[in-house]
Amino acid sequence: MDAHQLPAAEKTQQTHELLNQAYKRLTLDSRRTPMHELVSTMLSHRTNHADEVKAYNTMLERFGDWEGVMQADENELADAIQTTRYPGQKAPQIQQTLRRIQEKQGEINIDFLKDIPVEEAMEWLTSLPGVGLKTATLLLLFNFKKPVLPVDTHVFRVSQRVGLIGASVTANKAHALLLSMLPKDPVELFNFHKHLFWHGQRVCTFYSPKCEECVLQHICNYYQGVRLKKIDT
Ligand code: SF4
Repeated sequence: MDAHQLPAAEKTQQTHELLNQAYKRLTLDSRRTPMHELVSTMLSHRTNHADEVKAYNTMLERFGDWEGVMQADENELADAIQTTRYPGQKAPQIQQTLRRIQEKQGEINIDFLKDIPVEEAMEWLTSLPGVGLKTATLLLLFNFKKPVLPVDTHVFRVSQRVGLIGASVTANKAHALLLSMLPKDPVELFNFHKHLFWHGQRVCTFYSPKCEECVLQHICNYYQGVRLKKIDT
């Protein structure tokens, strides 16, 4: 059997090992508070990191704290986060989220999530406006070291091209499917996520993947099935 025809679970394991060798291993130390991570992830949608950070800093400089952001005029908040894409949609969404957290917890603080089971924490977070699986898993893994796998656009694209998940699997379904094939160790999951993210940004890019320099070439469905056939013809 050729390497690219291996069962998905074996391929996932090999992908993890190969990318562990290709990229540096990271420790799992949260850099930001849970509220910072939550709101930054909402700001980051279709926005580069520098513009997301600029929006976050401007917002807090202008309104002081989460209470101030929640009570700010919606248009002024949109103006403060204008370096992100869709500030007019993100501003009310952030305010609704802050209001819901305060209603549910009596304060704008989500530190309690570290003490509840992962399924319950997922359910709680995804019940907030504008918080989907990607944001919830990022927060739970990065901040609370819970064993979940965030699947962003890069992780999703690389996983589909290599053949860890099928072509018809949605990004939402990919979270559980990929997780089921990986060790339930938060540090391993964190490294798998970061390595696929970097690989998607630097090598397996959206428009022109650099297959010739890719360490996953021999196990990759896309390369074996599409690129090599094109080279042959
Ligand atoms: S071989 Fe090409 S398509 Fe496959 S993972 Fe590498 S860069 Fe992406």
